[in-house]
Amino acid sequence: MTVLDTEPASAPSGDALVVLDHVDKHYGDLHVLQDINLEIKRGEVVVVIGPSGSGKSTLCRTINRLETIDSGTITLDGKELPAEGKGLAKLRAEVGMVFQSFNLFAHKTILQNVTLGPMKVRKLKKSEAEAEAKKLLDRVGVGAQAAKYPAQLSGGQQQRVAIARALAMRPQVMLFDEPTSALDPEMVKEVLDVMVSLAKEGMTMIVVTHEMGFARVAADRVVFMADGQIVESNTPNEFFDNPKSERAKDFLGKIL
Ligand code: ADP
Ligand code: MG
Repeated sequence: MTVLDTEPASAPSGDALVVLDHVDKHYGDLHVLQDINLEIKRGEVVVVIGPSGSGKSTLCRTINRLETIDSGTITLDGKELPAEGKGLAKLRAEVGMVFQSFNLFAHKTILQNVTLGPMKVRKLKKSEAEAEAKKLLDRVGVGAQAAKYPAQLSGGQQQRVAIARALAMRPQVMLFDEPTSALDPEMVKEVLDVMVSLAKEGMTMIVVTHEMGFARVAADRVVFMADGQIVESNTPNEFFDNPKSERAKDFLGKIL
């Protein structure tokens, strides 16, 4: 299955696409992100794992400015993220986001869910947007559901629509925040399969997940977070087979 139109190189090509430099964020007294330094290269797939409450979702949300930061910088393709205005809408189009809870528009059809953004932001004509959307829906395996409403689809189908909707904006990077953790077990694989093919086609991806199988197959790197800090960053095999920190050992002991 091919999810993208284009066939970029599948190995990370070396230049940094997303760079977080000394990023700090507080929620009141809680220092939720502590001096985060992270560079994601074009084509790289980074899996972020760590205990609940460690700041993984906050990290994702800062990258598309759903959350502000207190200090440090975040750049996308060398440009600092705009905090508001037109630049922000453009940024959001370049950073695709898939949430745990699908977040489809309940009162729009599957096709409309995918065409809305491209018509509004990319200024596509309805016919163009629909043609692209149908291709994307076919590629994630839900083309036959285009005229239905989200509630008529299974969780796994809805999440694949959410991925198609994000891809329709032609993002430079895709963020996934625990995309399979709200799914019934039998639907996890169909969503992970789409993500694995995206990874193989060279999409730059940041994926918060505890799916070790996905990490081992698709990730170039695993970043382990605890208490708002990046504690380890390593290849998946090295991280899972030979974690260095006590916190990572303890965490892996609980989930493996
Ligand atoms: P994770 O995704 O790793 O479970 P989160 O980024 O969701 O962690 O949360 C990190 C910490 O920040 C948690 O202690 C959480 O309760 C807190 N937090 C998250 N969002 C907010 C918010 N909007 N206001 C205050 N505290 C928050
Ligand atoms: Mg989270």
